[in-house]
Amino acid sequence: MRQTESGMFSARAGRCRPGGGERQFLINLHTLIEHLRDHSIRHGDLTPAAILALLRAQAAERDALYAAADGLRGEIFGQAVHLRGIIEFSNQCSNDCGYCGIRRSNRDLPRYRMATEEIVAQAANAKTWGCSTVVLQSGEDPWFTGDRLADLVQRVRATGIGAVTLSVGVRSLAELRQLKAAGCDRYLLRFETSNRALFRRIHPDESFARRVQCLHDLRAAGIQVGSGFMIGLPGTPLLTLARDILFATSLDLDMIGCGPFMAHPGTPLGGTPLLADREIYFKTIAVLRLLNPRAHIPATTAFDALTPDGRNRVLQVGGNVFMPNVTPAKYRRLYQLYPNKPCVDEEGNACALCAHRRLKGLGRMVAIGPGHSLRSNGSSGQAAG
Ligand code: SAM
Repeated sequence: MRQTESGMFSARAGRCRPGGGERQFLINLHTLIEHLRDHSIRHGDLTPAAILALLRAQAAERDALYAAADGLRGEIFGQAVHLRGIIEFSNQCSNDCGYCGIRRSNRDLPRYRMATEEIVAQAANAKTWGCSTVVLQSGEDPWFTGDRLADLVQRVRATGIGAVTLSVGVRSLAELRQLKAAGCDRYLLRFETSNRALFRRIHPDESFARRVQCLHDLRAAGIQVGSGFMIGLPGTPLLTLARDILFATSLDLDMIGCGPFMAHPGTPLGGTPLLADREIYFKTIAVLRLLNPRAHIPATTAFDALTPDGRNRVLQVGGNVFMPNVTPAKYRRLYQLYPNKPCVDEEGNACALCAHRRLKGLGRMVAIGPGHSLRSNGSSGQAAG
């Protein structure tokens, strides 16, 4: 898609026209947003330049983008927001990612690993605090073998929690099948950036292909798949961001988790400035919603590091999931992937209560039930409660 002098845009229209050829047609940005909103244009019909135009939208066009994304979210998910309590259960990490505060070579960081009993007890607490499901996240901690993780998942599931999501890095297909059998419903594994060269530089311990293969393996194992990327990594022009959005969409994900990249001073990427147009972070979410109407999209914690009402704003431009941090307070300062992470001195119940308050302030309510995938061919086939 390219902008013409008349302020119109051209988009590929091959797939939605009989005959199938690559044809171009001219539309303005408002019309494009309307077509995305009513599903008459699909992501396969869009070039990265079309996404770029949406990311550059300002003033009335930006408002139209936000309104369309919020309206679509309301149409598909209603006013209910799923609360998924996140437990950051280990900051041990064998990877040395250039962006991450818990990277292996951050030797000043005291390391912790919660005991299985402690994690299970906290998951049970999260349930009493109104989180119907939990997300268990850690660094790439080799102590957690497939057997130990499977045992953990089984015990957390036995608390009666509605669903368990794991976010523990790349695992083999055999391990993923073992985890599925133990009761793992969902898995989050961001591809971080679709720019292969950048991925190699900032994620040196693992290839992009291996990470993406793991996403396919998750699907093969029958686990609901969540992925996404960091917004505003250094050296990424907006066109890369447009490609990230299209790549995430092409994966046909059950959940899309993206957040602002926040430079950590103790990492090689420390000092990277935020994007000058802060709205780009929110426009990314809005565009993702328009291209992925039925995907769960969380308001990730890093949005609050960007601006105190960041997560609220995500819920107003397409987000439908909130993830209160229910990690015990004594570990939180040790799991700072980036600076300015919110709520590092709070206990889990405070974050859960705060989430309830925030939803009420937005006129939204807490969803009942596990909130499984809404993809038509989703792994569980179960609709959100
Ligand atoms: N080890 C697992 C993995 O890599 O998938 C899960 C834990 S990892 C710390 C969770 C996510 O934190 C990463 O996928 C990355 O996108 C995000 N993250 C790490 N450092 C960040 C930073 N400086 N700013 C924003 N997000 C960051």
